[in-house]
Amino acid sequence: MSPETTLKNGAKPKSQTTRISIRNQMKKPSNFRLLIISLLFFQIQAIGQSTECATDYIHNTLVQTDSVYRKQIQFIESQVEASIQNHSNIKLQSTIYTIPVVVHVIHVGEPLGTGSNISDVQIQQAIAGLNDRFSNANGLGVDVEVEFCLASKDPNGNSTNGINRVDGSSVANYSANGIKPTGNPCSAAIETAIKDLSRWPVSDYYNIWVVSEICNGAFVGYASYPIGGLYDGLVIVSTSMTSTSGTLPHEVGHGFFLYHTFNGDGGNVSCPVDTNCLINGDYVCDTPPHKQGDCGTTNPCTLAGVWNNSRYNYMAYCPLVNRFTQGQKDRMRATAIVAPRVSLLSSIGCEPVGINESSSTIFSVYPNPTNNQINVKTDAKLLGSVYIVYDNIGKLVLTGKINSENTVIELGNLSDGIYLFSVGEHLKQSFKVIKE
Ligand SMILES: [Zn+2]
Repeated sequence: MSPETTLKNGAKPKSQTTRISIRNQMKKPSNFRLLIISLLFFQIQAIGQSTECATDYIHNTLVQTDSVYRKQIQFIESQVEASIQNHSNIKLQSTIYTIPVVVHVIHVGEPLGTGSNISDVQIQQAIAGLNDRFSNANGLGVDVEVEFCLASKDPNGNSTNGINRVDGSSVANYSANGIKPTGNPCSAAIETAIKDLSRWPVSDYYNIWVVSEICNGAFVGYASYPIGGLYDGLVIVSTSMTSTSGTLPHEVGHGFFLYHTFNGDGGNVSCPVDTNCLINGDYVCDTPPHKQGDCGTTNPCTLAGVWNNSRYNYMAYCPLVNRFTQGQKDRMRATAIVAPRVSLLSSIGCEPVGINESSSTIFSVYPNPTNNQINVKTDAKLLGSVYIVYDNIGKLVLTGKINSENTVIELGNLSDGIYLFSVGEHLKQSFKVIKE
């Protein structure tokens, strides 16, 4: 959901005033900047009302109808919970995770920079705004220590600005009604047909599709929970892909496995169950459970906890949102270091073309999969370097030194699973252990 749209229950332009005044106080902008912000304010007001995030709709439908999806969600939940509770998890501490992003603009034939065919600058500013929110630039929440970079290298190793543009008007119903989230009955273009126009490997890039509309204005965005697959990523309407967007951090939050702060309210019907905050509601303990429409000065569901953490949260549908919490940070970072998101951390999608060209070939790990040992073939300049093997929740399980250009590493009793092998800061490869 988003601050610029949100709410079935109405209120909103006022919220924008409040949010902008806080930004003004914090950053003390010049008059010129005030003018720009004022213009943005009016632009935001002009965006359609009563539009929502479709993530829950899709998720709830799949949970009820798709047993494979249900098992995938349960599996990733168990992985994330284990990762959070693993206090020896060195990867949870103060490493900034960098996520390469590719933006696919699926427009309806407008000239570049107009209508849904938004400009490169607008997209770059939207990603900058996303990073401001994740890094707690306003000081009201916590720094998630996750940053997003527009890809500089495409899947073929060529230079790119991380933005692809495709005219989607040839896909049935797209020009009239935009995209239809899978499972939704609206008469818009089939989701996979739109995403097939342009998509990059989800193992190396977080995919963002900017679209003209979602179900003829019914939604402003939606994202896949982290289960991978060809169509993993987020979809956002072009009018919400802006530097001030709350929709973008909201949907990325879903992408890193955050639920709405009001998760479990039955559609604004009842207070979410609150017996164990680790497994009830939004699975986060410092965001008090509430109903979607409860955004006032007190929380009718509970007096416990810091209410502002929920009602001002990017994952709420409340009119003023400005923060992620420590609990959400832990959950997102735990998600980042388990499959399928973990492969993004070793992507070279944001490295300059030509300079680190060798990083993907400077060493190789084989056989892969393996059962009891790996051979590491390295470039001579890595001799003496420390290697580290992490398990799939980011725990260090083996370490040692590269002593030759062909190092054999015994894996001992490592259990079946996916491991990450690294030499140096940015050189990582995954391998799989399968016992015979
Ligand atoms: Zn949402």
